[in-house]
Amino acid sequence: MNFSEISGQEHIKGPLRRAVQEGRLAHAILLLGKSGQGLLPMALALAGYLLCENRSETDLCGKCNACRKTEKYIHPDLHFTFPVVKKEKQKDAPLSSDRMEEWRQALEEDPLMSYNDWLLRLDAANKQGNITARECREIVRKLGMKSFEAGSKVLLVWKAELLKKEGNRLLKIIEEPPEDTYIILMAEDESELLNTILSRTQVYRLHPLRDEDILQHLVRKEGMEESRARELAYLSDGDLARALKLAAESEGGMGDTFRQWMLMIARSDWAALLEWINEISTKGREWQKYFVRYGLHFFEESLKAGMSAGYTARILPGYEKLTVFLNEKMDLEAYESAVRLLEDLHYHIERNAYIKVQLLNASLRLGDVILKRKRIRAEALIR
Ligand SMILES: [Zn+2]
Repeated sequence: MNFSEISGQEHIKGPLRRAVQEGRLAHAILLLGKSGQGLLPMALALAGYLLCENRSETDLCGKCNACRKTEKYIHPDLHFTFPVVKKEKQKDAPLSSDRMEEWRQALEEDPLMSYNDWLLRLDAANKQGNITARECREIVRKLGMKSFEAGSKVLLVWKAELLKKEGNRLLKIIEEPPEDTYIILMAEDESELLNTILSRTQVYRLHPLRDEDILQHLVRKEGMEESRARELAYLSDGDLARALKLAAESEGGMGDTFRQWMLMIARSDWAALLEWINEISTKGREWQKYFVRYGLHFFEESLKAGMSAGYTARILPGYEKLTVFLNEKMDLEAYESAVRLLEDLHYHIERNAYIKVQLLNASLRLGDVILKRKRIRAEALIR
């Protein structure tokens, strides 16, 4: 993993590289961010950069002896600590090194993996992973040894939140690491960290990725069509892993399907609507949830565009007309009702409710909202 492979996060790449070049990188570093923002890749790139024998100003060389080993995660001076669970029939407390094979494979295949993804790989979805006291002792032992290749030693600690009381065993080594030793801790949730660790590390924070960074990644690395990539970027809240997950779960763009739905509702075209509901009900549940999330996003952006003239909605070209149309029909209150309806629909889909009934119900009630029909009808009945 090198810096150029990481999307966005320029605000910390630069300072990290400069600190390494000028020999003033803190010996204990904490990277804070979401896994989908590139937390592990950033730590891996930094470790590779520290170990590279021929780094440039911008990146590791990728060719030297050290790079060839870090690339495969087999460099003897690159150590990893990450949560593990006991293997079947294992008596001792588990160590990260028990799971190196799975770990290397995970880094290879999915460096944006979440903690949960990792537990699934360990076949431990229902268990809690742990960084054990034994592991902490092992860290102290490993870092106390001389480096194998006469250069720096680097330890990466993933999910540093899980260093509880045992984490205090590491304090001394974090405070005064052996010479030429770097400890790079990674965490997603700052509030779960031991204060003693927070106060002894230099903190670098990752940011949510910009739409443009996600778009570029999806187009260049995944070979996705630009319009689809843009739609996914809008829906993923700056989290690349989420964008990739959404991509895997959905086929094709959602814009046309959503526009079709809104127009059938606005025209009260019930025959077409029933046919459409039949079609949507055959799609998978993940697709349906994704569609509803798209609807929520669309309403939100449409409302913002309606409220402030200068706002550029994060909506694909070609769909602005639909926002204008909705804004003619809907006020703030109507949008609030529409959002609640879709949240309800999402809730029911998640719980495996009978999708046809739910879609019909949501369509009818959205019709009431968009066309303000309910009130008129009720009044007509009273008269
Ligand atoms: Zn190199």
